[in-house]
Amino acid sequence: MNNIAENIQSICNQLNKNVQLIAVSKLKPCSDIMEAYNAGQRLFGENYVQELVEKYPQLPKDIQWHFIGHLQRNKVKYIIDFVSCIQGIDNENLLKEVDRQANKHNRVVDCLLQFHIAQEETKFGFTFEEAQQMLQNTNFANLQHIRICGVMGMASFTNDNNKITQEFKQLKIYFDSLKQNYFADKNYFKEISMGMTNDFAIAQQEGSTMVRIGSAIFGKR
Ligand SMILES: *Cc1c(COP(=O)(O)O)cnc(C)c1O
Repeated sequence: MNNIAENIQSICNQLNKNVQLIAVSKLKPCSDIMEAYNAGQRLFGENYVQELVEKYPQLPKDIQWHFIGHLQRNKVKYIIDFVSCIQGIDNENLLKEVDRQANKHNRVVDCLLQFHIAQEETKFGFTFEEAQQMLQNTNFANLQHIRICGVMGMASFTNDNNKITQEFKQLKIYFDSLKQNYFADKNYFKEISMGMTNDFAIAQQEGSTMVRIGSAIFGKR
């Protein structure tokens, strides 16, 4: 079960055509990433800044890097010039810093708003009220160097599929509501990033457009 190309193929066979696969390569060597790359994979997810900064120059430039984890504001500057999407926007100050740094590089960086949908305390993310407050704020409209493309969330780590289903349903409801109220005319607001190795089948049923899968591709970390 350590053939990365086969693992990717098997996951792709289970995904609907409209669902993108982010190969989560955190804590895995560049040689593993190259195996996935040679199998055709171009979207990769990392969630440690230092690690991503070390890997980036060693790997092909047509890889699209998604930063998927919690991002500290003071580290935005290290990845802003090359990252294609920041999935873990969980507070307004972080979004402003992404905008400020992207401005310096003359870029517009795609972002997803991370919502807190799990019961665990440890998972980061906006509450729905917090996100609404931010989007209603006029300061938000002035941010020209970020583009909010959708939402992201992590379900509870549990075997209770009902619970996972409910949490993903909640994220879909948040997405639909934000779309209707703030992004109705924005075609780029279309992503729901949910689903990992253990729950991507459920996530896909509940409307995911992007799954973030690590261990099922690269093996245990
Ligand atoms: C590690 C990680 C993943 C991938 O987890 P697997 O269970 O290995 O598929 C997905 N999303 C985030 C935010 C992660 O930190």
